[in-house]
Amino acid sequence: METIRLFDRDAYATEFRARVTEICPIEETPGDYAIVLDETLFFPEEGGQSPDTGRIAEGDVLDVQIKNGVITHRVHFDGAAPTVGDTVQGTIDWAHRYSNMQNHSGEHIFSGIVHRLFGFDNVGFHLSDHTVTMDYSGVLTEEDIHKVERLANEAIYQNIEIRCEYPDEATLAALDYRSKKELSGAVRIVTIPGVDVCACCAPHVHRTGEIGMLKVIGSQKYKGGVRLQILCGYRALEGYGETLRQLTAISQQLSAAVEQIPDYIDRMKEENRRLSAALRAMHVQKMTQEMEAIPPEQKHVFLFADAIDSNLMRQTVNELVKNHGGYCGVFVCTAVDNFAYIIGSKELNCREVGTALREHFDAKGGGKPEMIQGSVSGADAEKLLDFLQERYR
Ligand SMILES: [Zn+2]
Repeated sequence: METIRLFDRDAYATEFRARVTEICPIEETPGDYAIVLDETLFFPEEGGQSPDTGRIAEGDVLDVQIKNGVITHRVHFDGAAPTVGDTVQGTIDWAHRYSNMQNHSGEHIFSGIVHRLFGFDNVGFHLSDHTVTMDYSGVLTEEDIHKVERLANEAIYQNIEIRCEYPDEATLAALDYRSKKELSGAVRIVTIPGVDVCACCAPHVHRTGEIGMLKVIGSQKYKGGVRLQILCGYRALEGYGETLRQLTAISQQLSAAVEQIPDYIDRMKEENRRLSAALRAMHVQKMTQEMEAIPPEQKHVFLFADAIDSNLMRQTVNELVKNHGGYCGVFVCTAVDNFAYIIGSKELNCREVGTALREHFDAKGGGKPEMIQGSVSGADAEKLLDFLQERYR
């Protein structure tokens, strides 16, 4: 038998008493039971909305599902569970429910306005415990989104009554309303006069003013349309608080007022570019000096450097290969006892050096006979240089 949906009659009730009609333990998690009651205030996971939480008898309600009109509560009991025929007390977590009601009602307003102004449908809806995600069947520009957000908040401040009704067949047939899926049986219509008419089974707030505010916090292109995220009510307040905390932390780190952060970051990026260029020029100069200090008759050359980029490594190896016949390698320290290397030669097979490094150290890498690159770790510069100079005289 279908469960009587008490939340349909009164979205604001938090406590109820009901009779247990079915209960069975869930084997894989001891203490968890699937419970069916003759009636319930617990709204199940339905239409993309997270289920209510709360308590039934002495247990925590972990999940609520609906199938063929029968609502099943998953409840965890530390002590004894009730039995069939028992009358139990149920209490829903009001803060969680009310937050869902605020956000869900906000979605109706936003989607109603999008439908009226642009003709797009809400083709995806997910109300998690954190945000509301809505997918629309067409593209909304940033300007469009701003306009809808503004109108949605105007509708909120007008504090319009939200009506939930089951119209008779004839009335329903004549009614123009939004619907997310094909409906059968009695259809519950949620009307926000002048804003939206939509078929929906979830609990909503009585008046739009209770939504408090609606803020779009994200948008992205999605399946030929757009996916938006919004926050309403307490969640919008908490979201604003969180954003402000983060901004304040950044502002303190930078010693810059919040409104000066974008300029400050531009200046930091510019300064970073300038310093990187200056540092590279110094590195180029240093590598040039080191190369000039090498006797031209020296066959194998291995240079060790700190923090030069891979382009300069390669340039240096190419320059060395022009002037020296043997193996020419540049090793750059990347962490303690860790080096990136490039080794080149115009006459010899560099893979031989790669093999030797792998045999004697923790080394990786490869390449062509004329040039290899990779990394080596587990030895300091002195030990590596000793090894290479001993092997390649
Ligand atoms: Zn709804």
